[in-house]
Amino acid sequence: MINNKKIVGAIFDFADRLTKLPLAYKVGSGYETARMMAILEGFANDRGLNIDKPEISKWHLDDIELREQYLSLQEAYENIQEAEEEYELIKKLVQDHKMNYTCEFCKREFSNEKRLINHMCEQKRRWNNRDEHHVRLGFQSWLKWYELSRTHKSQKRTYKDFMGTQFYTAFIKFGLHVANTNMVNPTQFIEYVIKNGIKLDNWCKDSVYENYVRDVCKREDVGSALERQVHLMEIWAEENDEEWTDFFKVIQPNLAIKWIRTGRISPWVLFNATTAGYLFERMSEEQVALVDDFIETPFWKLKMKRNEKDTKFVQETLERYGI
Ligand SMILES: [Zn+2]
Repeated sequence: MINNKKIVGAIFDFADRLTKLPLAYKVGSGYETARMMAILEGFANDRGLNIDKPEISKWHLDDIELREQYLSLQEAYENIQEAEEEYELIKKLVQDHKMNYTCEFCKREFSNEKRLINHMCEQKRRWNNRDEHHVRLGFQSWLKWYELSRTHKSQKRTYKDFMGTQFYTAFIKFGLHVANTNMVNPTQFIEYVIKNGIKLDNWCKDSVYENYVRDVCKREDVGSALERQVHLMEIWAEENDEEWTDFFKVIQPNLAIKWIRTGRISPWVLFNATTAGYLFERMSEEQVALVDDFIETPFWKLKMKRNEKDTKFVQETLERYGI
């Protein structure tokens, strides 16, 4: 037995669902609702009744008329169901499509592949730069720093982890600094700055690196110092088409100062090479001061006096080559 409550419920449910559909579907389905309301209104007008929702439940309807209305309502109802299903299907297709063109870093969605490829955000840029020399140096430095300064050493640390940390920019800057200064052993430098409690922000300062170099030169054994020096002289000679033994006679004073202050020329050699005088002769007073300011002469004089054997070794080796 069909009752009026069922019809009224269907109409209001229908109207409710209609509001949830987008405009394109409302047009067709709106027509269905309007048709249903018109039927109901006509029926009510004939009998002097009100179509407010609470009033309708009080109506007394005869069965034949009610059945006719019910059938037309059912038809309209099927139409709106179809519209709803179609809408859900299209919505899903759109979502699936969007997922393929979403930036994996910032989750921004794009309408096509080309736009996604052309898109750039900070995290994507960091990922794309991962193989650049200074970025690799920065990443390796971060790993070392993490290993030295954290208690949980077992945690795996990836480049993606690094990209998301607040230290990223500082370490990339440091990586650039390592590359620019031609730092021989960055790991050792990191150990030095951590041991001495130097803040990350100050790692790129020249003064910090110079202090570190002073420290390294002081502790380095004489054999390594000499070996490093000869290697540097050979590279210099090849690049400048000079004899390597003429190093101190020919090298540009500015370059020599830079190499002294970055530890590439060891005081062991500078104090014991007889040709070093040719370099100082070609320097201005200001340039000599820059060297003096870096090398702690009293310390080295004392060190060489205390290690007579080492001093003799350097002097004899350099003399053999006329340096
Ligand atoms: Zn992005």
